Amino acid sequence: MTLRYPEQKLDFEGPGYSFDAKAGVGRPGFKGRHLLIEDKCTGCQLCGIACDGIAVAIEMQEVKLDRPHNKKNIWPAVDYGRCVFCGLCVDACPFDALVMTNEFELAAYDRASLKYTPQMLFEPAKPTGTVKTKIDPKKGVVTHG
Ligand code: SF4
Ligand code: SF4
Repeated sequence: MTLRYPEQKLDFEGPGYSFDAKAGVGRPGFKGRHLLIEDKCTGCQLCGIACDGIAVAIEMQEVKLDRPHNKKNIWPAVDYGRCVFCGLCVDACPFDALVMTNEFELAAYDRASLKYTPQMLFEPAKPTGTVKTKIDPKKGVVTHG
């Protein structure tokens, strides 16, 4: 299938990739830009430690939000100039605070713009697509319709 990009873009149905830490299994989904869920992130740094063995794309940054669940006021930031979208940081999060979204248009003109701060990762994904697409959770394949 050939799309006439940028007039035509994939529009993924449902949420992106996430990990069920209690059951220890991944929930199928597209691996696009991360979403950091502010009221769940404790600043434990496990996502960053997981990424250190892969791409060193996560840096913990201080953002003073003074939330009771994140007393250190540190949150992950992702450098998309390094990230390989493997999802291991999502798997490493014990609190379901880091998930991936369907947002895939991340290209930029300079490397600095690829560095997403925690505040940028708190933002919901922008809708990008026009061609309806879904990932079959049983077969793990992408279908179009
Ligand atoms: S998805 Fe990106 S940020 Fe997360 S572990 Fe993989 S390379 Fe690192
Ligand atoms: S996103 Fe998850 S693993 Fe990363 S610092 Fe926050 S709570 Fe810890």
